Amino acid sequence: MLQKVEGIVLRASSYGESNKIVTIFSRELGKRAAMARGAKKPTSRLASISQPFTYGYFLIQQGRGMGTLQQGEIIDSMRSIREDIFATAYASFIMELVDKLIDDESPKPHLFEILQQALHAISEEYDPEAISLFVEWKLLPTAGIYPTLHQCTNCGATDGEFAFSFSQIGFLCHRCFSIDPYIIRLSPSQVKLIRTFYTVPIDQVGKLTLKKETKGFIKKIVRTIYSEQVGIRLKSQSFLDQMEKTPEFFPPKTENPSPEEE
Ligand SMILES: [Zn+2]
Repeated sequence: MLQKVEGIVLRASSYGESNKIVTIFSRELGKRAAMARGAKKPTSRLASISQPFTYGYFLIQQGRGMGTLQQGEIIDSMRSIREDIFATAYASFIMELVDKLIDDESPKPHLFEILQQALHAISEEYDPEAISLFVEWKLLPTAGIYPTLHQCTNCGATDGEFAFSFSQIGFLCHRCFSIDPYIIRLSPSQVKLIRTFYTVPIDQVGKLTLKKETKGFIKKIVRTIYSEQVGIRLKSQSFLDQMEKTPEFFPPKTENPSPEEE
């Protein structure tokens, strides 16, 4: 059966001398791997469509076992992401997170929408660090975590001072601070920002600019949830951490496209 899907290439790996196995996250089918015959040859019509981050239409021949990628039509090659090392690093992190969190082949159109909007925003030169934070917060439910952020997790109050509690996975109001000795106190703007990250669609945030410390603070909370409650740590995270610590070693624009993931 031949199927046309709208998808994004999550990753591509070498297979034999000239083939690639591409993992496509599609709106219609969820995550699927497909063999792209000859795609390693630069002259192949599948060469450009099988690169990570590529957003397009894919024609997949489904049989028993793995499907075969017959052809593709690029909607957005996300070239500008590949040309910038920071954009590439954050986009790779997002792809790895999505890839890790979905293990079945059922469609996840909402998740697809988030990924597509995130890549689009990064390619439009939005701050990739902020965009990856948006994705991390929004993917918590996919990871089985439903933080309570609209009210106090303990008493339901919506007014007062708030803090984040890892044991309650959500906000606690000042009346309930005592139930968790390890709360992280939040300013009203931090409360608002966390809610924005969790609830506002990426295509509605505008060109928001955040201070380094603000991002660092919000990131610490969400990463702690992922490492302690979800139990995942991503390979691309160590590279990102290194890059954030020593940005001077990473020139903002590179002349050559980044090497493909193998
Ligand atoms: Zn309370």
